[in-house]
Amino acid sequence: MSASPLENIVIVLVGTQHPGNIGSAARALLVMGLTRLRLVSPHHFPDEHADAMASGAVPILRNAQVYDSLEAAVEDCAWVVGTSARARYLGDEPMLPGEAASALLQATSAGTVALVFGCERTGLTNEQLDCCHRLTMVPANPEYSSLNLAAAVQIYGWELRKAAIAPGAVASKSDPEFMKGRFRAPTGEQMEQFFEHLEKTLIGTGFIDPANPRLLTRRLRTLFNRARPDLNELNILRGILTSVEKPKHRTRRERGPDRTPPKSSPG
Ligand code: SAH
Repeated sequence: MSASPLENIVIVLVGTQHPGNIGSAARALLVMGLTRLRLVSPHHFPDEHADAMASGAVPILRNAQVYDSLEAAVEDCAWVVGTSARARYLGDEPMLPGEAASALLQATSAGTVALVFGCERTGLTNEQLDCCHRLTMVPANPEYSSLNLAAAVQIYGWELRKAAIAPGAVASKSDPEFMKGRFRAPTGEQMEQFFEHLEKTLIGTGFIDPANPRLLTRRLRTLFNRARPDLNELNILRGILTSVEKPKHRTRRERGPDRTPPKSSPG
């Protein structure tokens, strides 16, 4: 494990339009002890405006990794939380910033985790939200809830720092629960493989309409992301799916005693 759990947190900015916001976000992060920045298709980067706004945090910009898609940017992440300026329908209440920060910190015991910010104009698209296991929102003024991107990064940066400096913030390897493997969280890729398997199986049984799988698949994702199965549990679920695809026809003896209650005789 890293010296500080904050080292296991990556901040992802998606489709940022104004380079100044990337610089301001880098500064907001460094002040809070966060250093890992990932950028998905930034409109202008590297850029002198970004450098100017970053001030002493230019090294964060130099080390920032750039990706073509959010999927690629969070591929190695065990847990991914998206931020939003408004409540979005995912079937889940958005977490408060403090709750999200504590949960992210806890999840670092399983590896790298990500906090994702959308672009200035539209925020995260539904497809980008599909890459996120949970959603968080600053419940700001409902009439005008959209924070400047870097200001949002600053709020979450502080919440993460506050959670990290709280005593006993993160489960450590000496924690008996950790040793039991309770925190062997699946990677984002393993969760994706599970979702693909689930969709394929449910199309096979006829439960999902292959012409229109989106809505139901999203509801199921939300359900399993909220449950946060660990790796063993995920393997059990995949085993169940395989047994639906290829049912084993056991002999009567293998099935054991017949438990169907005897039919009561009429009259
Ligand atoms: N018009 C967009 C606003 C995007 S603001 C929309 O309606 O979604 C750019 C980004 O800043 C958002 O995608 C989110 O990552 C962050 N942000 C802005 N306001 C926020 C808030 N109230 N809570 C959490 N994140 C917020």
